[in-house]
Amino acid sequence: MTNILFYLKFLICIIILISPGFTESAIIKDISIPVHRINEFPFIKIADLEKLPNVSYKLQDFESVEINFLGTKINLNNGGSFFRVNDELYHMPLWVEYQNNNFFVPYHGFFRVLEELKLVKSFLDPSKDIVIMDLIKFNITDISFEQRTNGCSIIIHNIGDFNLNSISSTLVKRPGEWLSLTIPWGRLDSSTIVNTKIANPIKKIRISQLPQSGQISFQLKSTVDDVDIKKDEDTNDLLIVIRVDHSENAERIKEIRKKWLLDTIVIDPGHGGKDPGTIGQKGTMEKDIVLDISLKLGAIIEREMGANVIYTRSNDIFVPLWKRTKIANESGGKVFISIHANSTTNHKVSGFETFLLRPGKTDDAIDVAQRENSVISLEENKFSYRDLSYENLILATMAQRVFMKESEFFASAIQKELAKVFNTNNRGVKQAGFQVLVGASMPNVLIETGFLSNSREEKNLNKKGFRKKIARAIFNALVEFKDKYENAIIDE
Ligand SMILES: [Zn+2]
Repeated sequence: MTNILFYLKFLICIIILISPGFTESAIIKDISIPVHRINEFPFIKIADLEKLPNVSYKLQDFESVEINFLGTKINLNNGGSFFRVNDELYHMPLWVEYQNNNFFVPYHGFFRVLEELKLVKSFLDPSKDIVIMDLIKFNITDISFEQRTNGCSIIIHNIGDFNLNSISSTLVKRPGEWLSLTIPWGRLDSSTIVNTKIANPIKKIRISQLPQSGQISFQLKSTVDDVDIKKDEDTNDLLIVIRVDHSENAERIKEIRKKWLLDTIVIDPGHGGKDPGTIGQKGTMEKDIVLDISLKLGAIIEREMGANVIYTRSNDIFVPLWKRTKIANESGGKVFISIHANSTTNHKVSGFETFLLRPGKTDDAIDVAQRENSVISLEENKFSYRDLSYENLILATMAQRVFMKESEFFASAIQKELAKVFNTNNRGVKQAGFQVLVGASMPNVLIETGFLSNSREEKNLNKKGFRKKIARAIFNALVEFKDKYENAIIDE
């Protein structure tokens, strides 16, 4: 057993040592080869190419020659202007010459192709009649992954001019299978490629260098719907677009949507029954005004959004505060909208405001919360409400921190929309400790739709058309909220 382990370690060391990426750079620089002039045109003697490391040639007969150029097979014929590179056909403006037992290739036509294939970089120095060459040891060095919601793109960067048809690939779809690409002239730089950061649904990347081609393989992690292999004509990048199984993906999105869709809206008309809420100078009762706005809002939601609407009360009955959030939570509500009308001793004060459950910052906000919470004294079966001291409110706020951002966005959208309806004060988004919001396990807001203590606002709130406008404004804010949060969730 120890022996096997020893040999295994030994083998690993050998592999690391001979792995080209670790020991040699990607380019062998500045090799010069003499130019031969035939009818004034520059030619290269094929025998001279053997000066380059890992380049050899073999005369098939006196008519043809095969060059092995770092594993790439090049075939030329005497008098021919066509030649093959790994079975791909290329054309030169001049033809191959055979003189004094030697083959000569026209420099411009031949080296243009080798450069396009990223085999070599060369430069003709006419003053000395030499060609200076940089031999490109690896022509595939850079691979990157881009994660997509429905799969990923693999980009094999700048691998030289190539014919897409010359690249073969395996057909795979199932987890565990290997998608293998064989690039005929490919010389892979293992040191950079294997360290590439991969993306789903690819599990592993593996390369194998064959004498005449390079093979890159990607192992699938999950079922794939289709694989598209393309060439970017501008950059000479090879693109592999992998789309994961569509039905699987659609299922997942449906699951997320089901969980997060704003499909159930809870509307909480304040007060009711023996609790009239605040009463205006003309005797208008808060409970009636807010019930009507709530029912109008619910009707618009059902008609235009197609969402379920849950009312904590839909007629003139008394519902304790604790029961309102219980109804909301048990119905699977996705947002809780509590609707109220305001009141204060100063009859000049008017305007609309939206509250979030948080420790109150200003006295008037605390006053509103105290008034709205005072209904508890009318509740018969005493529920043990937690005293909303500063500390307890902090705790209640923390319990809601997962959807605090949503509540904030919704509250400011409501204020923005209501400002279009009212020509009175936009009193802004405020925060205070409302018992009715404490237990809600969903984004929640409490809207004060105007002051019944102000005679002008009492008059307005008594108008059916005005209440309809308020309902429409809240609905518009809900649409904004729905768009923002559903899209954010789907994008993730
Ligand atoms: Zn109220």
